[in-house]
Amino acid sequence: MSGPGTVSGPGWAERYGAALMNTFGPPQRVLVRGAGSHVWDADGRRYLDLLGGLAVNALGHAHPAVVRAVTDQLQTLGHVSNFFATPAQVTLAEQLLRIVTPGGAPAGSRVFLANSGTEANEAAVKLIRRHGGPARRRVLALEGAFHGRTLGALALTHKAAYREPFEPLPGEVDFLPFGDVAALREALDEDVAALVVEPIQGEAGVRVLPPGYLPAARELTRAAGALLVLDEVQSGMGRTGTWMAHHLPHLGGGVVPDVVTLAKGLGGGLPVGAVVALGADIATLLGPGQHGTTFGGNPVVAAAALAVVAALDDGLLGHVTEVGDLLRHKLAGLGHHGVAEVRGEGLLLAVGLTAPVAQAAAGHLLEAGFIVNPVRPDALRLAPPLVLTAAEATSFVDALPAALDAALADAGGQG
Ligand SMILES: *Cc1c(COP(=O)(O)O)cnc(C)c1O
Repeated sequence: MSGPGTVSGPGWAERYGAALMNTFGPPQRVLVRGAGSHVWDADGRRYLDLLGGLAVNALGHAHPAVVRAVTDQLQTLGHVSNFFATPAQVTLAEQLLRIVTPGGAPAGSRVFLANSGTEANEAAVKLIRRHGGPARRRVLALEGAFHGRTLGALALTHKAAYREPFEPLPGEVDFLPFGDVAALREALDEDVAALVVEPIQGEAGVRVLPPGYLPAARELTRAAGALLVLDEVQSGMGRTGTWMAHHLPHLGGGVVPDVVTLAKGLGGGLPVGAVVALGADIATLLGPGQHGTTFGGNPVVAAAALAVVAALDDGLLGHVTEVGDLLRHKLAGLGHHGVAEVRGEGLLLAVGLTAPVAQAAAGHLLEAGFIVNPVRPDALRLAPPLVLTAAEATSFVDALPAALDAALADAGGQG
């Protein structure tokens, strides 16, 4: 949605356009400050941030624990090369091994720390290559998948508009129908190195895998000698009220994957990604010299991630379930003719609309002081800070009908 005055502040929009590559389209607002679940624009207007920096600001904006962790670490030791270890890096890896599977990761599991979700998936692609060798070259992903923008991760990403300008992409990737166990069984030959899936497809509009898919995928990939890689970049780190989305009993059914990738909420706003290889066979696929990063495992971002883990341990996981349930039930209970369904888990939700007016609805919500993401023409994605309060959630539900009415009226007027 663009319109008069959508970008405010003294000349920032023009300067943005003159200085930054146009990869994101025009920015909606210039933001200057955040606290809790709110951000403020350059004109001093306040917004409830129901996008959370794209599922990143797990503890909201300027959370004291993150600020303290980062400040203390930066004052103590800000960066070292990976020729050296730091306590923050080691402790974070230990914590990830604790939380990645209920009851802790199997013996021999190991972590590689990267800087983003894309990079975590690139590391997973290298694990897949090492596992598959020359004989197993095919990788399976799902229709609707989003795994990132670098060439290896992009090869696993389904959307034509993202892929086509950069083809040929590396690897032999086949995309299977979403949630279709029979198609997976059919596709899993002895030339398949891995299946890569998001338990909940975020970019595709918050699509939750059907119950039974992940357990079946685990059984089938194991029998075929292929790896099961779960991309929990968006769905992990407490977003669903469990540490990982696949820990939800109806979604994961107790599966232990071979690889889990993480990022987004992990750093509470700082750039950090992680790939967790489960079991010694997988964790030793990459040896000295076979992968690396300059910034990965940086102690400042590791300290921020440790603050996020501590907060989730300290009751935030339960809070996500509570507020997520409240938000979902209130949205469903609106009974508004513009709402077709409410889907998702915890605080990763989408409001499915009865008409393709998401863009216009998001624009009206922005004017009313709410940031949401029109992830698809007919869906609004909500991925707010995990610290969102019940009152904040309710204030959004109260504002939604007017925004939907206005968006539907816009559409009616045009038609
Ligand atoms: C956002 C996202 C990525 C890419 O992460 P970046 O940090 O943007 O590189 C990968 N996989 C999923 C599921 C995502 O949602």
